[in-house]
Amino acid sequence: MIRRIDLRGATAPDYRTVVPRADFDVEAALDVVRPICDAVRHRGVEAITEYSARFDGVEQTDIAVPVAAIHAALEQLDPAIRAGLEESVRRLRATCEAELEQDVTTQVVPGGTVSQMMVPIQRVGLYVPGGIAPLVSSVVMNVVPAQVAGVESIALTSSPQKAFGGLPHPTILAACALLGIEEVYAVGGAQAVAMFAYGAGPCRKVDLVTGPGNIYTVSAKRLLKGTVGIDSEAGPTEIAILADDTADPAYVAADLLSQAEHDPMAAAVLVTPSTTLADEVEAELDKQVSATRHVERIRTSLSGEQSGIVLVDDLEQGLQVVDAYAAEHLEIQTRDAAALARRVRNAGAIFVGPFAPVSLGDYCAGSNHVLPTGGCACHSSGLSVRSFRKALHVIEYDEQALRDVASHVVTLAEAEDLPGHGAAVRVRVEER
Ligand code: NAD
Repeated sequence: MIRRIDLRGATAPDYRTVVPRADFDVEAALDVVRPICDAVRHRGVEAITEYSARFDGVEQTDIAVPVAAIHAALEQLDPAIRAGLEESVRRLRATCEAELEQDVTTQVVPGGTVSQMMVPIQRVGLYVPGGIAPLVSSVVMNVVPAQVAGVESIALTSSPQKAFGGLPHPTILAACALLGIEEVYAVGGAQAVAMFAYGAGPCRKVDLVTGPGNIYTVSAKRLLKGTVGIDSEAGPTEIAILADDTADPAYVAADLLSQAEHDPMAAAVLVTPSTTLADEVEAELDKQVSATRHVERIRTSLSGEQSGIVLVDDLEQGLQVVDAYAAEHLEIQTRDAAALARRVRNAGAIFVGPFAPVSLGDYCAGSNHVLPTGGCACHSSGLSVRSFRKALHVIEYDEQALRDVASHVVTLAEAEDLPGHGAAVRVRVEER
């Protein structure tokens, strides 16, 4: 069901070229999403409703969800789900509050300071996946850091559901109500990202789009980056597990399955120096897959070119492989897992030891589950309270502090052949 890639004895190749990856990736999906984004830009809601009919099978007259429907969903929410959401919110809010950066003022010279002022982004559009499964947890993961960051205007969108009269899934609406979000749209995929980026009908343009999604949603984020800010390319889920012979094969297999369950395009990769563990995990996968609810989706994910068991000589080589892969989720199930985790440079989030499965992070660890995929973890971070704030420098110099540095500014301006720059300083410090 899952292929093997044998890197034992490989002499320092560029591991990025040999780790498992899908062919149909974010870049390839750009051809599909470009016309969708252009249509939304030029024809707004009319184009959105056409795509909702084509991709989601719903006929819409309005893309905005009535506020009454949002509150009604909370009234009907199963109390056990509500309790789970409240716990998830409580834990994530605690980490967001602790991670909130304070302003910093540096006294550069007497009379001259530079302050880093942290300000919230004013208006954000949050994406919550709803095509394959109603990811109510993504409401929490998006909204809580935005609120702790102090964002003034929050809009949220999720795919329209035929089964619910063209509205997003009621559990998603209930989570919005629980968190006080009342501007909600029933729009999914690339058309939702374009709606946020350009504005359409009742939805005003936003400054930043965040949240996870499928290959089309994330490809639209790549296409429209610049027109709008994005958090990271948080696309089809990936799990990499670095494990040795101390790992429990039942845990490893369950964790690979748990992420394969997200999407036929999800990636599940085990990196291990132990052929015994590799064999045992394969046997466990066979056993566990047939007992799951989404057998076909999981089989497609595990047998795809994006998944595999990678055999390595030792954990040192394994570490190089997982660093090159830059997984969205990296689990380390080895001896001295905590020490090994500290040496990782590229991963969206690292789950250490046998009792920190990715599923914990998906809901209730207190960490964020919106994480970069497709190798983007080598340059991007997961969603956090930082994603919703930006740093402004505030420069304050008095007259003497400017006089003291004036000659340097004038010299550097001349070196760049920009004498007007120098003149703007001279006019302040020379006799007129
Ligand atoms: P989604 O909500 O992003 O996409 C659903 C939308 O895709 C639909 O509304 C439809 O409009 C559009 N669509 C469907 N088929 C299309 C096609 N052929 N062409 C153009 N558009 C099309 O996502 P989903 O399908 O529910 O899947 C959720 C995804 O989010 C999974 O891939 C999961 O792995 C991923 N995810 C990622 C993270 C992360 O942080 N990286 C976290 C959670 C989930």
